[in-house]
Amino acid sequence: MSNKKELIKVISRVLLCMVFFLIITISFGALFMYKDDVESEALFRGKYYTDEMCALYQEGLDNHRRKVLRIQDDINQQEFTDRQEFLDYFNRVIISSETDGAPKYGRFYIDGVEYKSDGVKYEESENSKITSNVNSHEVMCLGVIGSDRQFSVETIAYIVPLKNNEFADCLILFYIETEIVPEDTDLDLSKFPVSEMSLIASREGEVLSFIEVTNNQFNLHTHSLIYDKLTTIIGDKDLIDEVTRSVYSGKTQSFLFKLNGANYVLSAASIKNNGLTTFTIITIFSVDNIHSIGSSLTDTVLVLLITFSLLIIGLLVYSIITRNKIQRIKVDNDTHSVLNIAKEEKFIKTANDILIRNPATTFAIIVADIKHYEYTLEQLGEDNIFDGLKRVKNLLVKSLQLEETIGYLNNGRFVFLIHYRDDEILQERIKHMTLLAGSQAFKGGKGASINIYGGIYSTDRKITPNVGKMIELAISAENATEYPCDFLEFRMYNETIHESVVQNDYIELNMEHALEHKDFKVFFQPKQNIATGLVDGCEALVRWYNPEINDYMQPGVFIPLFESNMFIIKLDHYVFESVCEYISDAIENSMPLCPISVNVSRITASQPDFLRFYINMKDKYNIANNFITIEFTESFAFEDYKSLREIITSLHQHGFKCSIDDFGSGFSSYNILKELPMDELKLDRFFIKQGFSNERDLMVLSSVIELGKELHMKVVQEGVETIEQFNLLKSLGCHTIQGFLYSKPLVVTDFIAFLNQKKVY
Ligand code: C2E
Ligand code: CA
Ligand code: CA
Repeated sequence: MSNKKELIKVISRVLLCMVFFLIITISFGALFMYKDDVESEALFRGKYYTDEMCALYQEGLDNHRRKVLRIQDDINQQEFTDRQEFLDYFNRVIISSETDGAPKYGRFYIDGVEYKSDGVKYEESENSKITSNVNSHEVMCLGVIGSDRQFSVETIAYIVPLKNNEFADCLILFYIETEIVPEDTDLDLSKFPVSEMSLIASREGEVLSFIEVTNNQFNLHTHSLIYDKLTTIIGDKDLIDEVTRSVYSGKTQSFLFKLNGANYVLSAASIKNNGLTTFTIITIFSVDNIHSIGSSLTDTVLVLLITFSLLIIGLLVYSIITRNKIQRIKVDNDTHSVLNIAKEEKFIKTANDILIRNPATTFAIIVADIKHYEYTLEQLGEDNIFDGLKRVKNLLVKSLQLEETIGYLNNGRFVFLIHYRDDEILQERIKHMTLLAGSQAFKGGKGASINIYGGIYSTDRKITPNVGKMIELAISAENATEYPCDFLEFRMYNETIHESVVQNDYIELNMEHALEHKDFKVFFQPKQNIATGLVDGCEALVRWYNPEINDYMQPGVFIPLFESNMFIIKLDHYVFESVCEYISDAIENSMPLCPISVNVSRITASQPDFLRFYINMKDKYNIANNFITIEFTESFAFEDYKSLREIITSLHQHGFKCSIDDFGSGFSSYNILKELPMDELKLDRFFIKQGFSNERDLMVLSSVIELGKELHMKVVQEGVETIEQFNLLKSLGCHTIQGFLYSKPLVVTDFIAFLNQKKVY
């Protein structure tokens, strides 16, 4: 036992020694490699660090530039009646000290004179700089303007030329320089512990700010001239000349130099704006600090061990930080994690704040949907879709102006709050948005551009609801496809749509009650056999009776809504049972009767218990075989003709006839028609509508009739209103017509009278 323990001890010691030697060997290897590489490593690090700082500054500048462009757009769209109104707007809206990210102060310039924002002439104007930029009509960043007397802060100035403004040729806006790099910067300076110093200088080389100073050796003050000062400190004019040249060439470069026996790296880079160098960024650090390599073995091991431990600690800290970060991303339910855009709740909050801040301004809420979103998603997958949406979003964000915002609802639907001044400007904005989206395409999507359509709600309607409700109403406008669009493919919420929304609310609130109280009434529209002139069956059509006004609501109003809220299933069942009841009553009371067609919605027919219900009901009322025809719409046949074929087969087995309704109204496919064993073909009104009379049209109608006959179907033409249409159909060999010419849909008592008169027994 003890022997075994000894053995384990020895083995573990040997293993430990081996690990130890391994570490030592690796350390030495690494040490020699490092020694060789130390200079290029230092040069590389200097360049990398400087580039990161540049990227950060560049991003800050880009953000600013966007803000400035929005201001330019915004003020160009304003109309001012007098100078005071312009000054007010300039001070209150543009330079609003309460608004985050607004300019700190501003001046304006007209006819060669510069004025402060309060309208008083500015005596120290640097006129030449401004005049050269005003005519270019381009927003121009002047870079950092040294400390301003009025506010004593370093500022970045922009010249913003205006269009057709009576009171100013251009604005000059000043942002605080330190604002450019946001406080929550990703650039973790502690990642570069070896940096002795980094500094930002203006284009002219004037030191503006220090990022970090750990060594007093390089004591540079703001307002000193960087190249002069560096020449004095380093004492190598050639080197500094080279640095200057590299900065102006726009490249980031690192240089090695020696000072007081120590090695240093100096890296320099420039940031450009409108093609002009705006800033210079310079970092300096000691090369020895990168790899402080001791000469003795113990030093080396110590350094390596410390590095090793630091690495482990670093890894631990990193993993904790990233874990926190991931958690933060997960917890942030307000922002869409992939698109990086406000979700509905956050959008509503932001939009609400904007509305409160601007009570006198009219805004529009716009919902914009991607055309064929579901289909594209299915075809291309989520990654490609989001990649496309992201590009579209980035462009749309750029199109926003001051005090406007954007959000993402779901399923390719964006939402905007934008200013609404008049229809003309709105039209332009929508056109712009549509063009921006259209400039992009989904990857793998055969190059088709991304199309948007949607709805608009404007806050100038008298009763302004909350943002959530406004979004809902903009969506109602989008969905009100029975009305024409107002701006390209966008529809504005208006009185008519408002009425239909109110009507829809009424429908949804009252439908259950109406069904219980038997307010849905079945009308019957007789069909006529062309050859015999006799009644050739009828179609059951539902109406909603409103006892309060003693009038009927037409199915076109409520059926589409019932199809979206599934109530159509209950209604179809109700209509079918009413029809069965009517047939069985008529037989019992020896009243006249004819075969009846019943409409069945796609939703109803897709229910798992569809067949069971219709078959049971037919049995319950003892209805004769082939007396009832079920009408399916063509769109259903197109979408799901395989399952429809199974349904038809079952219906046939149980004594029903089947008809395909509205044929020709959608994507007619003769192949599908051949595949489906239908008994009847009902041609849409479209075939005989006015203007449908040239030779080609007649050929189409005639061949469709021929096709129906060839497939042994009864061909019925709907919507026949004139004797000319009747005669035409007769000449083409159509079997049956249905339409106002023969009879309107009739309430049951009138229908019975009609049959009596036609002597149908
Ligand atoms: P549909 O099945 O195509 O019905 C024919 C429609 O054309 C009926 O409209 C009818 O009143 C109308 N019509 C008949 N003759 C003429 C004519 O000569 N000229 C014109 N302009 N129109 C004519 P209605 O009753 O308003 O029904 C509209 C639609 O509502 C129906 O179209 C059908 O799709 C649906 N529907 C009606 N009742 C039901 C039902 O019980 N269940 C389901 N799922 N849908 C129904
Ligand atoms: Ca029908
Ligand atoms: Ca029809």
